[in-house]
Amino acid sequence: MQKFSIWSLLRNALSYHEGWQQQWRSPEPQREYDVVVIGGGGHGLATAYYLAKEHRVGRIAVLERGWLGGGNTARNTTIVRSNYLWDEATALYEKSMQLWEGLSQDLNYNVMFSQRGVMNLGHTLQDLRDIERRVTANRLNGVDAEVLSPAQILAMLPFINLNTRYPVLGASLQRRAGVARHDAVAWGFARAADALGVDIVQNCEVQGIRREAGAVVGVDTARGFIGAKKVAIVAAGHSSVLAALAGFRLPLESHPLQALVSEPLKPILPTVVMSNAIHAYISQSDKGDLVIGAGIDAYTGYGQRGSYPVIEGTLAAIVELFPLFSRVRMNRQWAGIVDVSPDACPIIGLTPVRGLTINCGWGTGGFKATPGSGWVMAHTVAQGRPHALNAAFSLDRFHSGRLIDEHGAAAVAH
Ligand SMILES: Cc1cc2nc3c(=O)[nH]c(=O)nc-3n(C[C@H](O)[C@H](O)[C@H](O)COP(=O)(O)OP(=O)(O)OC[C@H]3O[C@@H](n4cnc5c(N)ncnc54)[C@H](O)[C@@H]3O)c2cc1C
Repeated sequence: MQKFSIWSLLRNALSYHEGWQQQWRSPEPQREYDVVVIGGGGHGLATAYYLAKEHRVGRIAVLERGWLGGGNTARNTTIVRSNYLWDEATALYEKSMQLWEGLSQDLNYNVMFSQRGVMNLGHTLQDLRDIERRVTANRLNGVDAEVLSPAQILAMLPFINLNTRYPVLGASLQRRAGVARHDAVAWGFARAADALGVDIVQNCEVQGIRREAGAVVGVDTARGFIGAKKVAIVAAGHSSVLAALAGFRLPLESHPLQALVSEPLKPILPTVVMSNAIHAYISQSDKGDLVIGAGIDAYTGYGQRGSYPVIEGTLAAIVELFPLFSRVRMNRQWAGIVDVSPDACPIIGLTPVRGLTINCGWGTGGFKATPGSGWVMAHTVAQGRPHALNAAFSLDRFHSGRLIDEHGAAAVAH
């Protein structure tokens, strides 16, 4: 793999940047692999990368029905944080945060991870109690977190309106949290996985999952049958569809989730601001756009659109919080399909089919987990059992009742 560095940039500048290699190959699928990963989103690509890098698995393919990053990976609002409430979730997201902190160097690809902080606003006394509780839990788990008073919020954001219909009474702040460039994450993992020999096959929809004597033996795809000793489903919003192909059901609902960006502005918003209570959050991209997200649409479906009242409600909330943005024009709006689980936590582990593993249920908040999710998933696939970090996130918790209720820390917040 050609290495990106200041020296390679200078060398290539001398040859008018005509010497750069392609970032990854577009191979024809082989007849058989050791592991097939279904889904070329961030999580699937990260799984393949860590399988090759950490577990030395030889023949790996990532099968993607569309193009890399065409799913939620490059549709999300890129917020990365690890300030969840419960020990299990905090440990998983904090592992991810630690991987984020070295990811650009590890992949030799600038994922533009920017630790500009994430602020969660509290609008009621109960919100404030929840913030205090979560900040304390975070600190006990070694995760940075602090409680801000209204005066401290104003010091960071002098133009915020705290006297909204639901007045802002305080906030939590995780300073190590922030944002990353989402498509660079998909491309960086793809390039690094390809360099380790992983075949990334785009336009290759999986249409069937073949099993013999209770074990997976391969997948039927738009490009023919591909044999595999192990198969990993990492398909986000379409996980239930794939589980049905393998003959089992998931406790998931797939909902549209929307986002929108404005015209670019000069730098004004130094941190990410989110409010669960009024269902709105906002950050500013390095390009200058305001990146705005909303709550999920209430209905289920696979149309990547979303409905107008959600945008209207979100923009009304943003304008109330930040009146000076009231005349900013919106440039684009889109939606992805998020896979929401009953306890707002992911499912990462084994399935009733031998050799078939699954990673799904990240709902509105899986981008932040991309490296950590791939890391634990690779372990689960390679070893045939979960890592300690994802043991609690098994599918059978919905039978045993050992749920990890992260609704307070997740809700619509990302
Ligand atoms: C609008 C929006 C905002 C969000 N904001 C945030 C945020 O700020 N922070 C955060 O942490 N999370 C956020 N999320 C959630 C986050 O994007 C997802 O949880 C995460 O990206 C899911 O994992 P993934 O990247 O692998 O999914 P995806 O990128 O969706 O990857 C799944 C892939 O599987 C492919 N696939 C599906 N079916 C098949 C098949 N049959 N055969 C082959 N391939 C198949 C799809 O085409 C897709 O490319 C947001 C999501 C949305 C939609």
